[in-house]
Amino acid sequence: MAKKTRKFKTEVQQLLDLVIHSLYTKKEIFLRELVSNASDAIDRAKYEGLTDKSILKDSENFKIKISLDKEARTIIIEDNGIGMDFEELEKNIGTIASSGTKKFVASMQESGDSSAELIGQFGVGFYAAFMVADKVSLVTKRRGKKQQAYKWESDGTGAYTIDDVEKDSCGTEITLYLSEDQSEFLDDWQIKRIITQYSDYVSHPIVMDATKTEPAEEEGGDPIISIEEETLNSMTAIWKKNKKDVKKDEYKDFYRHISHDHMGEPLRTIHFVAEGVTEFRSLLFLPEKAPFDLYMRDERRGLQLYVKNVFITDDCKELMPDYLRFIKGIVDSSDMPLNVSREMLQDDAVLRRIRKSLVGRILKTLAEMLKKKPEDYDKFWDEFGKVLKEGLHSDFENADKLKDLVLFHSTKTDKPGTLKDYVSRMPEDQTEIYYISGENIDLVKTSPMLEAFNKKGYEVLFFIDPIDEWVAQSLTEYDGKQVKAVDRGDIELDTEKEQKKKEKAREKADTEYKDLIDLMKEELKEDVKDVRFSNRLTDSACCLVADEMGMNANMERIMKSMNQEFQPTLRVLELNSKHPILEKMKGLHKNDKKDQQLKDYCELLFDQALLTEGSPIKNPARFTQLVSDLMVKA
Ligand code: ADP
Repeated sequence: MAKKTRKFKTEVQQLLDLVIHSLYTKKEIFLRELVSNASDAIDRAKYEGLTDKSILKDSENFKIKISLDKEARTIIIEDNGIGMDFEELEKNIGTIASSGTKKFVASMQESGDSSAELIGQFGVGFYAAFMVADKVSLVTKRRGKKQQAYKWESDGTGAYTIDDVEKDSCGTEITLYLSEDQSEFLDDWQIKRIITQYSDYVSHPIVMDATKTEPAEEEGGDPIISIEEETLNSMTAIWKKNKKDVKKDEYKDFYRHISHDHMGEPLRTIHFVAEGVTEFRSLLFLPEKAPFDLYMRDERRGLQLYVKNVFITDDCKELMPDYLRFIKGIVDSSDMPLNVSREMLQDDAVLRRIRKSLVGRILKTLAEMLKKKPEDYDKFWDEFGKVLKEGLHSDFENADKLKDLVLFHSTKTDKPGTLKDYVSRMPEDQTEIYYISGENIDLVKTSPMLEAFNKKGYEVLFFIDPIDEWVAQSLTEYDGKQVKAVDRGDIELDTEKEQKKKEKAREKADTEYKDLIDLMKEELKEDVKDVRFSNRLTDSACCLVADEMGMNANMERIMKSMNQEFQPTLRVLELNSKHPILEKMKGLHKNDKKDQQLKDYCELLFDQALLTEGSPIKNPARFTQLVSDLMVKA
């Protein structure tokens, strides 16, 4: 293959500039990133070697070697891991974490925040090398039969080259040509310090040549100078250590290593050994910040799985339910066979038991946080609340625990609160829990549906996340009380006595307004299922309500936004018999049943009901025309 020069994709170039110039305050972490990559590459080689014997030689001595050359001003980081073939090299090093990059750069530019903490999540680890180097060259050869080696080279300013080269051993060797002002990294002690600080737990030896001077064998002779490899890291897997022997910073560094969240911190760390029927060790992290791709299908999820100390996979999705996909961490089990394949993982009884135990621990940790450190829980909720709520719809086994963990805004609170708190605030005569769903707080807060509830002093929860429509389907009961939507069916808020009184008034209104209501039904027959007097309105003229089973306005809006095919169900137009509009319409009707103005009023009432709930109206131009005409007449 002839040497090829390629340009970075535009976004990559922009991101590179950010990484080099502003992102990491500590330039030394470039080494942590490259060592992490080397360690991952060795893990993969060992794993592929389990099933493909051609990949490994009999006695492989896996290691990561760092060499310094003060004269040439280079640092070389070499591993004998899996290596990369041409396609992998292009894909992994030529583009950065492809899918997310563009979105990320756009959001960075929008916020104008060049110190964005988010950078780490975008898999730009390798590019950290350009913080200290003017030029980086990477020579790599994939393990496996008859592989060609390649050299990738770039000065980080726009283009890179890939060329065929000769390389005896498999793995990857990265040479950094240090910039003028980065001489400190040519010092052995510096490198040792950085490795012990950030990469001590890496499970493969990180070695460096050390010059050893021993006294001469004979008296008066020259001392014997030899060069030996010295291992810089202790290699103790952090999850195998006793909890009390691990420092907070060690957990943090390990979290960054496995989560690829290069600058984030865990909000909670759960480190435990499970004993009993299924024995395993686990170290889990609840991140402080949500990754940008939490809602993307191809986001990195799943936990790392080790079986009997051997790395199996870093995205074992079977270990965590989807609604806890933000949890990072590792599980080390000794109860599974080493040769587990991906297919076997999908339905493994041991994994299922481990998963159950992990979910239990996490929910318990969250419950404790909510109780003892509510300020931390608020932080967690802001980042991951919407995802946790998915659990109400998918994890029936833990439904009761989840119900105590979900928070909602309401008519009586300015920050989201628990259902338990809602119940504790319920007036004595209130027997059910109520919610209203809609697009945002401002819209639902002013909804006419709330009028009767406010008057009675009944609190109403706000379901304003799209997921809440699904939550509502599962959250039908809490603490023995039914959970009901304010805009569905025929909600009864009154005492029997009040009901009877209102029923009478309604019957009276029904007879009094019968002809008018019939006319409205006829005029709006394409748009509504029925027209009737309402118990829920006190100030507004009208509103639209759904049947007990029918689709409400919010659900319709969500389905439309997802481009879902669906048949909208007609709803009921409810009127406030005390509103002066009705009196006015009755007068018009008495004078002339065929009065055009009467028909216009029907249309306007229906449009009003749509607008107050935040739904689009059919014909805005016509609506404006009708309102303008009214204004002129007034
Ligand atoms: P991240 O490690 O966060 O995915 P990087 O930019 O550090 O992002 O690396 C991108 C990809 O390049 C890695 O996921 C890996 O597939 C590949 N890679 C990097 N370094 C090595 C290496 N030493 N050996 C083999 N593959 C590597």
